[in-house]
Amino acid sequence: MIPYGHQNISEEDIEAVVAVLRSSWLTQGPIVEKFENALTDYCNSEYAVAVNNATAGLHLVCRVLEIGPDSLVWVSPNTFVATANCARYCGAEVDFVDIDESSYNISVNELSKRLKTANELGRLPDLLIVTHFAGQPCDLIAIAELSKEYGFAVVEDAAHALGAQYEGKKIGSCHYSDMTVFSFHPVKSITCGEGGAITTNNQDHFNKLSLLRTHGLVHERKLMDGATDGPWYYEQQDLGYNYRMSDIHAALGLSQMKRLDEFISCRRELASRYGELLVDMPLKLPQMNFRDASAWHLYVVGVQSSGSGDIRRHIIETMHDAGIGSSVHYIPVHIQPYYQALGFGAGDFPVAEQYYKEAISLPIYPGLSRENQEFVVDQLCRIVN
Ligand SMILES: *Cc1c(COP(=O)(O)O)cnc(C)c1O
Repeated sequence: MIPYGHQNISEEDIEAVVAVLRSSWLTQGPIVEKFENALTDYCNSEYAVAVNNATAGLHLVCRVLEIGPDSLVWVSPNTFVATANCARYCGAEVDFVDIDESSYNISVNELSKRLKTANELGRLPDLLIVTHFAGQPCDLIAIAELSKEYGFAVVEDAAHALGAQYEGKKIGSCHYSDMTVFSFHPVKSITCGEGGAITTNNQDHFNKLSLLRTHGLVHERKLMDGATDGPWYYEQQDLGYNYRMSDIHAALGLSQMKRLDEFISCRRELASRYGELLVDMPLKLPQMNFRDASAWHLYVVGVQSSGSGDIRRHIIETMHDAGIGSSVHYIPVHIQPYYQALGFGAGDFPVAEQYYKEAISLPIYPGLSRENQEFVVDQLCRIVN
């Protein structure tokens, strides 16, 4: 089976993990810190906090920004459910802003319109979480301008976008946002097995993220509010979690960081080959904004649907029978039963819904051979024609 995404593990990666297993420190320790430093060096951010997965990272950023039951958080409907769920963990209200029909990212036009109305109604969002869908950066400059005008925080869900660039800056630099969250799940740019990280340039955010990652506990005397009973003493200052990354996971991530640029250029090559091979097909190919560089987490093609979505389903099922695991990203979040129970429904965000009916994610990952990519294209062409 050719999957839509797959990790790429080298002997060196394996040795790095084994070395930690032979050491005396398994949980968050020196390798986690090295991994965090590798991330800040790469992204050019002041700080990075590694966590056990991106979902936990999204939860932490909401906590740091004091998102609570009175808050309103806006997200794109074309994302993984975790982007919206993190706000719900904090009891906040979630709303969605429809996508742009060419980038499949949040529509800045729509955002601008919605903010105007929300301002008139006196119910502006406290936080906007933007997903760099498929690894292509959102229009962060325009979004940052709106955030200043209307006064809301911006967090980047960059689960797809480690290695992407916007206006010459790496995603994760937080040049236009408060914080950026990465995922190191096996299908993402690099993997830790499971893992995530938050980057930021804000020292207060960094301190709060570090505190909440480990139960809200402090061990350093100078950080304590009260008296210490002795060297064993710790103080719980907030309601935190165990969202730590282990050194075992960090060793894999740190080793993978060495090949990140290589992984991204493999993905870019595969994408440009798909572009060449599929150019004459009746398919909508990804449209790139040339001032940016996508991390090419996904290669999504659109098939003309007759409204029922059956052609798309036929293609995916037939490809599956041929041993190709194409997939669909994403079922609009507001259509999920959990969000429908909160009052959302079909028709609310028509661009995301139409996009969903037509989208197919073709296999793309470093390690996908030329032959297998051609096989995918041949099968797809045979079915579509
Ligand atoms: C993968 C993903 C997540 C969740 O990442 P985990 O590390 O699995 O928690 C969140 N948002 C998006 C857009 C993702 O693709």
